[in-house]
Parts: sequence; structure tokens; C-alpha cells
Amino acid sequence: MNETTAEVTVLGLCDAEKGTAGMAAQYGEILAGGRAVLQGCARCGAAAFPPRLRCRSCSSDDLQWWDAGDTAKVTSWARVALNGPTETASVPRRVGKDGPYTTVVVQPESFADVRLLCLLVTADGGIEHDAVPTSNDRVTVRTASLGGSMVPVCSLGPNEDPR
Ligand SMILES: [Zn+2]
Repeated sequence: MNETTAEVTVLGLCDAEKGTAGMAAQYGEILAGGRAVLQGCARCGAAAFPPRLRCRSCSSDDLQWWDAGDTAKVTSWARVALNGPTETASVPRRVGKDGPYTTVVVQPESFADVRLLCLLVTADGGIEHDAVPTSNDRVTVRTASLGGSMVPVCSLGPNEDPR
């Protein structure tokens, strides 16, 4: 069972009857609101990412989109160097010539058992080329438009926990 340490903010209902393609469309619409999102179960309270058609804890399809919060901690990262264009519908294609880029796996501070994949950006939203994150660095999580799609992004800081 996943644990949440804060009250959840429901951003929308997750309609599993629309299948994975329908849920992917919903996910993109929610990201357009600027908030990183994860999936939560209205029945048992489990949080999860990536989204699934049924809760992994209780198998319910009574699922919601939850705000992942503003802050998270780095758990791992990878810098990706580009050696020319790629045709795949992925981050490398969207980043294009603006590489290298860094993908970061983060643990939202309010959802200890969830991991989100984010693109590391500068404070002003550009692709981060130079910063090297370390495990447990605090990051600010939000979304940004990349190549016409909204994606989760994070930037390093703030360093102090405001609570
Ligand atoms: Zn559940």
C-alpha cells in the first residue's frame, strides 16, 4: 500500500474505460494545466505512476488524477548526448539540436512511494545542459511545452524545505 503524507488535490477523474489511449489523452490535458500529475485510487488511497487501468493495490477502476505537488527529491538521473536527429516520438526528437539533456527520476515529497520522470530544465524553463544533480537534491516540479506536447519538467532548488 502506498502512503501519502499530504491531502491530495484531485485534478480530474481518470476514465479507465477509455483505455490506455484515452487515458494518455487525459494525461496530456491535465499536464497542460501546468501541474505534474500522478494517478490516485479513490477507493484505497494508493498513488501510482505510470498510470494503470486498475489500481495496483486494490484493483479498483475508481481512479483519479492527483496533483503531484511542487517539490520532489532526485532519486536518479541520466544525461543524454545526441548524435544527430532521431525519428522516434520521444524526448530526443523533441529536444532536437538543443541537447544534451538530462532526465531525472524524482520522488514527490508528498508521495514517497511514487517516482516521476522529468526533464531537467533551468529556472527559466530552458533545457539544462550543465547542472549535475545528485541523489536527494530538491527540485521544483511543473510542466512545460516541448515540441508541441506538455511534459513534466523539474529544476534544481529550492534547497531548503519551507515547512
Ligand atoms: Zn486502490
